[in-house]
Amino acid sequence: MSTEPGTTAFAERVKKVKPSPTLRITAEAARLKSEGVDIVSLAAGEPDFNTPDHVQEAIVKALRDGKTRYTPTSGVPQLTDAIIQKLKNDNGLTYGRNQINVGAGAKNVLYAIAQALFDARDEVVICAPFWVSYPDQAFLAGARPVIIRTREADGFVVHPEVLRKSVGRKTKAIILNSPGNPTGAGYTRDDLKAVAEIAEECGCWIISDEIYEKIVYNGFEHVSIASLSPETCARTVVVNGLSKSYAMTGLRLGYAAGPEELIRNVNMIQSQDVSNAPSIVQWGGVAALTGDQSCLKTMVAAFQGRKDYVVGRLNAMEGVWCFEPRGAFYVFPRVARYFGMQDADGTELKDSTALAGFLLKTARVSLVPGAAFGGDEYLRISFATSMDQLKEGLDRIEDALGRLKPGPHYANYQVHLEQKRF
Ligand code: PMP
Ligand code: GLU
Repeated sequence: MSTEPGTTAFAERVKKVKPSPTLRITAEAARLKSEGVDIVSLAAGEPDFNTPDHVQEAIVKALRDGKTRYTPTSGVPQLTDAIIQKLKNDNGLTYGRNQINVGAGAKNVLYAIAQALFDARDEVVICAPFWVSYPDQAFLAGARPVIIRTREADGFVVHPEVLRKSVGRKTKAIILNSPGNPTGAGYTRDDLKAVAEIAEECGCWIISDEIYEKIVYNGFEHVSIASLSPETCARTVVVNGLSKSYAMTGLRLGYAAGPEELIRNVNMIQSQDVSNAPSIVQWGGVAALTGDQSCLKTMVAAFQGRKDYVVGRLNAMEGVWCFEPRGAFYVFPRVARYFGMQDADGTELKDSTALAGFLLKTARVSLVPGAAFGGDEYLRISFATSMDQLKEGLDRIEDALGRLKPGPHYANYQVHLEQKRF
């Protein structure tokens, strides 16, 4: 007789979450590639650059110097100080050591914040299209994500009236992500003032995910919402990390800055969870934040060139419309004109998931369907890959889309989509 517990032995919460679709699709593309399939992967949410030399060296030195023991949960003091200095220099924010949390990546930090802040019955306002982990981390804390839409016409920045209507007594926090993944939305100072004012009226927290702050285009100026006023700072937790700016995705280093009491609780959660971010990587973080920043310039200049190319190519494609991102390294083209079309086998492509599946199968291009981000009319393309790969991928996408034909229900699909627009 089997003694294994049945599926009823799993916690209720696992039914409410799903694996990160971005990580799943990226891993699937890597697997196909390793099997020899000629895949162009435009799915990955990570820079294709190497971790800067001086950061690598600091990590190796830390290893050789025996810095391999547990560290304080809040990070080694040298890293805490480097973060404090960075926030002062770049964002005009003043924090003390007790206001800094360090974790194993921004995702880990956001998770601990969700655990420290959200209770059952709390609502968490998230602007769609959103980064995939925000709703699931709210679910994992038992809270309810309240998803509100943003419009292309507003640069995917939340309209203050829509936000005002969506907050209320139960709102615990508004999650803000500027520059944003997946759209590349960038909030100006005025946009941020409107959000801060509404958070003030409602008395809720602001969780400001600023992980793409350094990757901005055409002179867009990143402003941290916490820098608007002492009142806004007191209700904001700023989240950042080294994954994107310093090409350190696999090394896992992120941080948060906020009011002392909140950070104390976030540290407490992490002391029962990850204990500390990898010790030697923390020394790499010190080198990254305090060292030569020219690596950033080189990377952003390359991203800018690729962004211009990709946006130009997509907007020249029949039935595709692409917003020009202000930051991050993704484009989020609207492709809904292809919904209701049929591939060569007569299969109707009903949504972004079907279209992404079709592009993987026929064009061997891996990208993430917009549905994963709460924007089903779109696809997400990462341009954190070489120009050659981008050109090849876009040629393949153009060719594959050009071969689709309207199916019998095409008009119905398009009317339905038009009615859903706002
Ligand atoms: N926030 C956003 C918007 C992201 O795109 C990512 C991507 N991984 C993260 C947070 C988490 O980054 P990490 O855990 O690698 O620091
Ligand atoms: N944030 C990246 C992305 O959106 C990495 C994957 C993840 O952490 O989900 O693709």
